[in-house]
Amino acid sequence: MIDLHTHSCASDGTDTPRGVMEAAAAAGVTVVALTDHDTTAGWDEAAAAVPDTHVALVRGVEISTRAHTPAGGVSVHLLAYLHDPQHPTLRSELERTRDDRVQRARRMAERLAEDFPLTWDDVVAQTHDGATVGRPHLADALVAAGVVAHRDEAFATMLHPGAPYYVPHYAPDTADAVRAVLAAGGVPVMAHPRAGTRGRVVTEDTIAELAQAGLAGLEADHRDHTDPDRARMRDLARELGLLVTGSSDYHGAGKHNRLGEHRTDPAVLAEIEDRGTLEVLRPWTR
Ligand code: AMP
Ligand code: FE
Ligand code: FE
Ligand code: ZN
Repeated sequence: MIDLHTHSCASDGTDTPRGVMEAAAAAGVTVVALTDHDTTAGWDEAAAAVPDTHVALVRGVEISTRAHTPAGGVSVHLLAYLHDPQHPTLRSELERTRDDRVQRARRMAERLAEDFPLTWDDVVAQTHDGATVGRPHLADALVAAGVVAHRDEAFATMLHPGAPYYVPHYAPDTADAVRAVLAAGGVPVMAHPRAGTRGRVVTEDTIAELAQAGLAGLEADHRDHTDPDRARMRDLARELGLLVTGSSDYHGAGKHNRLGEHRTDPAVLAEIEDRGTLEVLRPWTR
């Protein structure tokens, strides 16, 4: 059972990296990718848990990017697998994004503080040391302050991109990020390309352009996709010569997504490993 998209408390998941590995073992997942938002800070701890959890680890990251399309900017989450984390371009882009995410969260907290009992310290208290800061941490602070009952409610109301409290953050251009992942020896796969509840999604023309830039795959199977979305993304992947993945996007207790609820074919993982510069870390030898 192969699940190629999960989050730990190095970003907006609630489990530690080791906790993700342990939860994967408990769920019967045999290969898991740790893909925290804009950081590889959880890799070492997850890697150290491979021998005792008997779960294989794909080291990855989910890069926040923006596609500049004829209809305007669209947020695109780009998964990168098995890349060199020290590659300068990718490394500096992720650093710039993480830094601006802190400033952005501060500005959002300031705006929220005008109407709700919330301080920046409350947000920091919800964020693991060194983690990529995101709206989920603002949501957790709002829950702790008794403003909303759970993350979902915060996302549906004050944290929604249409809300007056929303502030965008820096994100690299999607095609540039695809090229940076390739330059770093990684395999770039578009996460949840049809997840429309979060905001606008890219058109098939944009996906075709990204394929030209070197995009390797589409995450067709994801809980934010309808069955027709999943079928269409499979067809599009076939038309464009892209790999198809499926994953849970597990965030621990932070989201309803269950480990292994969507899975990736072993042949696709083998192809990803062939193309990636790093090895899959296995508790067994092939
Ligand atoms: P940000 O990247 O800081 O704008 O926040 C977006 C993140 O919030 C995404 O990575 C999602 O994992 C998370 N998210 C979006 N909607 C929800 C929700 N309803 N409940 C929990 N997390 C959510
Ligand atoms: Fe997330
Ligand atoms: Fe995502
Ligand atoms: Zn994700």
